[in-house]
Amino acid sequence: MPTAVAGPEIERLIQLLARLPGLGPRSARRAALHLIKKRELLMAPLTAALETAMEKIQVCKTCGNIDTQNPCTVCTDAKRDRSIIVTVADVADLWALERAQAVNGRYHVLGGTLSPLDGVGPQDLAIDSLVSRAHDAVVTEVILALNATVDGQTTAHYITELLHDANVKVTRLAHGVPVGGELDYLDEGTLSAAIKQRTAF
Ligand code: ZN
Repeated sequence: MPTAVAGPEIERLIQLLARLPGLGPRSARRAALHLIKKRELLMAPLTAALETAMEKIQVCKTCGNIDTQNPCTVCTDAKRDRSIIVTVADVADLWALERAQAVNGRYHVLGGTLSPLDGVGPQDLAIDSLVSRAHDAVVTEVILALNATVDGQTTAHYITELLHDANVKVTRLAHGVPVGGELDYLDEGTLSAAIKQRTAF
């Protein structure tokens, strides 16, 4: 146990910051010090922003996105193509796809992927609500934008089976060469998936 260099309040701030992803104890210390030095400029607005977020943040009852309104901004956006539901494991994936401006549909956040090893079963994920949304006549395609991992693909297969009766096209993301990628650096799995899923030029 290292000796504390500051009072318990500051130590507590450091400990809390150290729990953030990407911040170890060392960077947490640096971040805390930075906040303290910029008390007026940074710490006060950050505290206010955290409080507001804490009060207002809700989980969208339709898609599972996180927002300050419910249904969320994406679900209520009239310019969205209502025929497409992009299914993602996590809100972070939804935000990543939005940043990429890749698709103009609406989303469905599962809240994870099936993982028998970690004890995550279908009842732990928002799968029933996805199946029920997919049965809406306006929906024609469900895109399974899930991780290219064993759990991600197991989940994709499971959902595809369940959507058999819904009158929708079920698609998944392409696997293959990343944009700007060099073939020589790719692993065999990626390279072989890219060859199998080749498209006409
Ligand atoms: Zn929503």
